Amino acid sequence: MRAADLDLRELLEIDRGGIIRFAGQRALILDAIAMGLLRKELIETVGAAATRGILTRLGFAHGWRTAEALKDLPWDSEHDFLTAGTSIHTLQGQVFAELRPNSAEFVEAIWKDSYEAEQHLLHVGRADEPVCWTLRGYASGYLTFAHGKRIICLEQQCRGKGDAVCSVIGKPVEEWGPEIDADLPYYEKGSMNEALQRLADELKQTERKLRAHKRALTLAGAPGEDPSGIVAHSEAMRRVLELARKAAAVDATVLVTGESGVGKERVARLIHDRSARAQGAFVAINCAAVTETLLESELFGHTRGAFTGATQDRAGLFEAASGGTLFLDEVGELPQPMQVKLLRAVQESEVRRVGENKSRKIDVRLVAATNRDLAAEVEASHFRPDLYYRLRVIELHIAPLSERKEDILPLARGFLAASAARSRRKAASLTPAAADQLLRHCWPGNVRELQNAMERALALGSGERIESDDLPEEIRAARGAAPSTGQSLADLERSAIYAALEETDGNRERAAAQLGIGVATLYRKLDRYRARQPARRGPRH
Ligand code: ZN
Repeated sequence: MRAADLDLRELLEIDRGGIIRFAGQRALILDAIAMGLLRKELIETVGAAATRGILTRLGFAHGWRTAEALKDLPWDSEHDFLTAGTSIHTLQGQVFAELRPNSAEFVEAIWKDSYEAEQHLLHVGRADEPVCWTLRGYASGYLTFAHGKRIICLEQQCRGKGDAVCSVIGKPVEEWGPEIDADLPYYEKGSMNEALQRLADELKQTERKLRAHKRALTLAGAPGEDPSGIVAHSEAMRRVLELARKAAAVDATVLVTGESGVGKERVARLIHDRSARAQGAFVAINCAAVTETLLESELFGHTRGAFTGATQDRAGLFEAASGGTLFLDEVGELPQPMQVKLLRAVQESEVRRVGENKSRKIDVRLVAATNRDLAAEVEASHFRPDLYYRLRVIELHIAPLSERKEDILPLARGFLAASAARSRRKAASLTPAAADQLLRHCWPGNVRELQNAMERALALGSGERIESDDLPEEIRAARGAAPSTGQSLADLERSAIYAALEETDGNRERAAAQLGIGVATLYRKLDRYRARQPARRGPRH
């Protein structure tokens, strides 16, 4: 048979099961736009060069396999088999291909209506170079199989770059000049390896940035290794977090107790974030900061004209927190009349706006906090026992900072890092002497006092290291018991070194610079730690 006699219908079989075979091999009918979308996504994902490589090799494999399938047909001549590739290309709908009969070239063809140029223009836009990568690959693959030697086809013109038609020349690789050099790599997997390597490098960089960003975010809230951002190196704090997570799982009212500044609101927020209400609002109010009359309308809302200055209807915080959590800080300061109203709201799950007769249903989880001993307040008749028992369905007590010294240094470092990140400065580290002083102080103001001290030290301090002199007077003067964490000066030094390494992503040069010691000294110390305590890990683990 002659190439011109090829009839697609004779080469195509569709069996009863719906399987299509082309020249005896299973084939697919692919939508041109779907191919265009694949090309677009590939370009966006791995870049144009890698995409060109992938599609060139896809085309090459397709051309090669087609030639392999057709070789056993009863061809009139070798020439018919060689040129059949062009006809098949057209019959498969990829392009309208015509050989130039009297060309001086090894093979020369005109391609009209290339599906590939059309899709490239549609999804990617006009290119500067020819874009019919699969077609070129196909022609090269077919001719390479048919001639038994490597033939490469290059587009001279392409619709994809604005020419009227695509034109292509093919010849054995050794007959090409240097113009082929740029094209050859796309037939090799190596081009993919290079692209993948570049991609992997970019990914690594992005991951590093993400890690730094995530750490800055954690630190900006409050430092620590717990995903909630709460530092819990002490056993006491670990227990609090465990209980908070359990409390989050049920919808009961929670009472958080502890001295001022221990971080009660953070724990309340953790309960909210881990609860089924996490998608709802977390609304906080400090009951001690608002006058009694104002507090009622703040909590329950008011109608227009309910009191002087009430110029419009307004929903209260209970309504605002609907579906979420309402955090009542310093609940121990509530005046008696408000205690009654709060109890009613909690019991009935409804509120009445000031100046309104009807009640509104609310769906709110209440978390209350106090620095008072509420049991004693109940005893002294300052706090209603019924409200007390309503609130403390689950009680969480946060120990003062002086009772969980293991948290002091990790907290301090976290605050330093967060503060530095906010002011776009380099992170500062603590000298062992400053760290020692922090451990001696009794922290009446708890975590909040520590945070203020670190922010002040960073603002007023001279360099990248916080010295004892940078600390507030009362901390510098602290003569408290030597560190009850059982940390010796050597322990402090080791923990400072690990902290610096963690902050610098394990970069020893930068860590050493931050610590103000030589790199050789840092290596020596690390070797020593490793030799002594192979099983012991960094202080933040
Ligand atoms: Zn083209």
